[in-house]
Amino acid sequence: MTTPRPRPEVDALPGYRLAQADVAVKLNQNECPYDVPAEMKEEILQRLRQAPWNRYPPMRAESAREAVARACAVPPDWVLLTNGSNEAILALVQTFAAGGTVVLPEPGYSMAAPLAVVGGARVHPVRLREDLTLDVGALARAARELDAALVFLASPNNPTGQAVPPHELEELLEAFSGPVVVDEAYWGFCPWTALPLLERYPHLVVLRTASKAFGLAGARVGWLVAHPEVVAAVAKAVPPYNVDLFGQAAVEVMARRLDLVGERVRQVVAEREYLWQALRGMGVQVYPSQANFLLMRVEDARETFLRLVERGVLVRDVSRYPMLENCLRVTVGSREENEAFLAALRAAREVAV
Ligand code: PMP
Repeated sequence: MTTPRPRPEVDALPGYRLAQADVAVKLNQNECPYDVPAEMKEEILQRLRQAPWNRYPPMRAESAREAVARACAVPPDWVLLTNGSNEAILALVQTFAAGGTVVLPEPGYSMAAPLAVVGGARVHPVRLREDLTLDVGALARAARELDAALVFLASPNNPTGQAVPPHELEELLEAFSGPVVVDEAYWGFCPWTALPLLERYPHLVVLRTASKAFGLAGARVGWLVAHPEVVAAVAKAVPPYNVDLFGQAAVEVMARRLDLVGERVRQVVAEREYLWQALRGMGVQVYPSQANFLLMRVEDARETFLRLVERGVLVRDVSRYPMLENCLRVTVGSREENEAFLAALRAAREVAV
């Protein structure tokens, strides 16, 4: 007897990997730098204390879903809550694209292609433009030529940080009539959203997560916004009770506090501009960003990454992605974290000279 053989395409996947280091300043996962305020944690805990733990949670997270739908200004049946937005990506592939082709940008969100493969689809990557913006025309052409089952893109794109302007998204939606998934994980930090396009384009699906703007990466909640027929179809690919009691309580409490979310997001955006200017001032090549992270190109990414770790700062080395030679991605942190990062980078560059 031997251990069972994985499907060859799954066997070939490297699996999710992330460089870890025990550092004081963690700027490698695009998390929110501010924890949930104590009084909100108390409110969430209060809900958990009152709920029976021996029972399954509300099946479709009705109350949380209502709060999230209100925050997105859509009716509740336009929303499906998932266990992080990664679960939504997998469910969308399984619903629309198993056995077919998923067209996506490269470099793009690192989990999109493996999730597509696990979901039973083939992946066709389309390169970004030289300036690292999404080439919407090329995506549309590939999708049509290959008769793609689904187009996936993140806007803002990760790890590059730039968002697709609505008129370009519209071009794609006009040119391709299959499902178009726009992953807005970094909604909030970007001045525009694809949500208004839903009215005219029933083949659009917008994905969001509570991990970034809501600052709830620990709760593992995401959601998709789409026409009710699409929501009902994808719901069949999602296991019941996929969002647990904690996730439901946390996202509901936060979705009802958009004032606080807005305040924290504004701080992050102000810090992003501060960091961007500071990096430019140091002569570092840094790309525009509508997200909560910046992509920069340095002399020697590997060496710089290691020197930053030595100084207690962890960023993401993305230099092995296509087109991103010598690039590092840094999450926008609190002012103290950003100062610590800038000081470490200055010191690292001095050593290099
Ligand atoms: N989409 C994009 C573009 C992301 O960058 C991330 C996380 N880094 C996710 C989705 C995953 O989010 P979640 O925590 O909701 O699974």
